[in-house]
Amino acid sequence: MNIILFGPPGAGKGTQAQYLVKKLDAFQISTGDLLRDEISKNTEIGKKISDDMQEGKFISDQIVNKIIKDIIFDPKKKNKFIFDGYPRSLTQAKNLDRLLDESYQKIDLIFFLNVNKDTIIKRIEKRKIIENRTDDNLATIVKRYDKYMETTKPVLDFYSKNQNFKELDGSLEIDEITRKIDTFINV
Ligand code: AMP
Repeated sequence: MNIILFGPPGAGKGTQAQYLVKKLDAFQISTGDLLRDEISKNTEIGKKISDDMQEGKFISDQIVNKIIKDIIFDPKKKNKFIFDGYPRSLTQAKNLDRLLDESYQKIDLIFFLNVNKDTIIKRIEKRKIIENRTDDNLATIVKRYDKYMETTKPVLDFYSKNQNFKELDGSLEIDEITRKIDTFINV
């Protein structure tokens, strides 16, 4: 089963992704984590994206598509993907469709965790203390939220026509969201 978790930064995608990874014995693809990895390993990509990441800017589709390509074709992970934070643009969504087609896979479920800006700001300020992420300051949070809304509107339109698209209230408690997700998985 391949699942996309979709929603603004701080919507709880990572938390639900970890739950689904355990439950379905699946693999999380978090482009945020993969990009942070490139930075910590100081790779060519890492050097290129470090400033933009710090400022909460959108990383180019070309770079993001490149870092996920090989993972999609990994036979050990096929049909066991939990996409967290990818795709975030229409180009990425179409790229993912193509890669899945080429590897004989499909998306089974798309969960949209819908949360408003105020809730996001409160949550990310909390996460900043717990995870000590340097891109979790208020100005960056607002920038990331606004950028997210701007670039992902077309992605939302693209997926919302899909029968597998499920919109969930992301301002609910973690356990409540998990319970709702479960109702679509335990079928
Ligand atoms: P996240 O961990 O998902 O909150 O992502 C942290 C940062 O990584 C974002 O603010 C972007 O700068 C970058 N990023 C992560 N995923 C993507 C993506 N799919 N497309 C473009 N930029 C991304």
